[in-house]
Amino acid sequence: MKTIILATVLLVLLLNPTSSVTIYENGEPGDFDFYLFVQQWIYSYCGEQTCIGSKVREAFTVHGLWPENTDGSYPSFCSGPTFSSSAISDLLTELDYDWPSLTGPNTDFWTHEWSKHGTCSITGPITNQHSYFQTGLSLYDKFNITQAFEQKDIYPSSYKTYSPDDMIDAIDSVYGGKPALQCQSGDLSTIAVCIDKDTLDIMDCPYLSGWTCSGDITWPSSDNNNSY
Ligand code: 5GP
Repeated sequence: MKTIILATVLLVLLLNPTSSVTIYENGEPGDFDFYLFVQQWIYSYCGEQTCIGSKVREAFTVHGLWPENTDGSYPSFCSGPTFSSSAISDLLTELDYDWPSLTGPNTDFWTHEWSKHGTCSITGPITNQHSYFQTGLSLYDKFNITQAFEQKDIYPSSYKTYSPDDMIDAIDSVYGGKPALQCQSGDLSTIAVCIDKDTLDIMDCPYLSGWTCSGDITWPSSDNNNSY
């Protein structure tokens, strides 16, 4: 009887067209279509999470460099070496500022990002843990979201709103690739640029489920965030 119930549940899950994104745990390193390079807007993230006060500033910081497929599935937790701070000792100062955990110890965040996403990202120009984190830092320098928005007269503000398309077009016209946006309660929270896995050049992001903002959105600034 148990077997029949289990088989029925599995069949329903397999046939359900609305089932959520497929995550291939224990996936194969390199078995994906492109990278999502994900940056989080601190004021939006810390509007939802309890953040460490000293880390809160008006900036995007790195969330992660994630292998991704055009159908929205992605590999995770591939085989590979465990996280080692000593393998990236020359990058730690930059990582502390550009890729911090806003809620806890930075090394816990990097350990998670490496084991979930980094181990699957080893392919082409990214050959090991050092080049994974170094690539994240280089992409952060190269795709400066705040600077691109400034060039198009888009600024953080507690009262102005912007259309998601204006924000997407601003990044596209400055860097040459359409990004994907995420919002929380009408605030821009996350921006991902899509990166070619062989050349590490920017490319247009395909439609990705869960990556849309609707209506006019706010890019919150420090002037309405006295509580952090
Ligand atoms: P991911 O979204 O990469 O799969 O998982 C992110 C994990 O890192 C979550 O468990 C989250 O709680 C933890 N984390 C720690 N610090 C941060 C941070 O500053 N930003 C985000 N987005 N997640 C963080």
